[in-house]
Amino acid sequence: MLQSGPDPEPRRTRWGAGSRAVAWLVLVCFVSGCQSVAGPLSIEQERELGGEFARQARGEFDFFRDRLVNNYIEKMGRDILEAAGPQPFEYKFYVLEEDELNAFAAPAGHIYVHTGLILAADNMSELAGVMAHEVGHVARRHIARNYNRQRSTGILYKLGAALLAVFVGGYAAQGGALVGQLAAMAYLNNFSRDAEREADAFAVEVLPKAGIHPEGLVSFFETLNAQKGGGGSPPSFLSSHPATDERIANGRRAIAELDLDPGLKLEDDGKLEIVQRRILLLTGMASP
Ligand code: ZN
Repeated sequence: MLQSGPDPEPRRTRWGAGSRAVAWLVLVCFVSGCQSVAGPLSIEQERELGGEFARQARGEFDFFRDRLVNNYIEKMGRDILEAAGPQPFEYKFYVLEEDELNAFAAPAGHIYVHTGLILAADNMSELAGVMAHEVGHVARRHIARNYNRQRSTGILYKLGAALLAVFVGGYAAQGGALVGQLAAMAYLNNFSRDAEREADAFAVEVLPKAGIHPEGLVSFFETLNAQKGGGGSPPSFLSSHPATDERIANGRRAIAELDLDPGLKLEDDGKLEIVQRRILLLTGMASP
């Protein structure tokens, strides 16, 4: 998850795709006995977990089924992967119809991008920055590491039990929000600051190899920070990590140290704008 930024107030998490993602992941673990896996999660185990998660997710999430939009995200993901070099996983990119500004990586390279995030990007480089960051979490095995950390504390098991109760017993708004928030904190939203730094560094390193200027990763943080300061509700991935300013500074420093080709792109000849327009039209947020 692209998380950063000071946020002294506890976040109110609605039962959105991110929380449901966590719920399913934990549920999958609970029923399939992942908690009994000894040692670090292997590539093969992560593949199995990711595959099962993606299967469950099919019936749970609101996928944005438009070929043009999906092809655009898919192509952007492939370009990033090609620049990143050989990977142990077969990545898949999905677009979810969700207003919430969010993107998240499930195990083994199943990466979900919300339409709200696509709409919020000022240019192609900003969206690519977020996607490269999420790819970075997978490529650097943060999910496996995070999984192990949660597992070792037994949190995953307890959450599995709580979530199973929610699913079996039916969703109650209060309980669901609480469990969703706990689960999000315990799993998706709890990459360490080092992991976030590493995913940012991955994005800054890989994007230029894809012909994309890494500036977008930093400018997106700034945009989101400004939005947060504007009194609106903070974007969900500006969560509990007190690091937005630090991440912006780190990103700027890393970019300044690179000898960047002046031909690197921030825009993509209006393609992002076409995609955004398409989302607005198909979600009824804009008139034809
Ligand atoms: Zn992240």
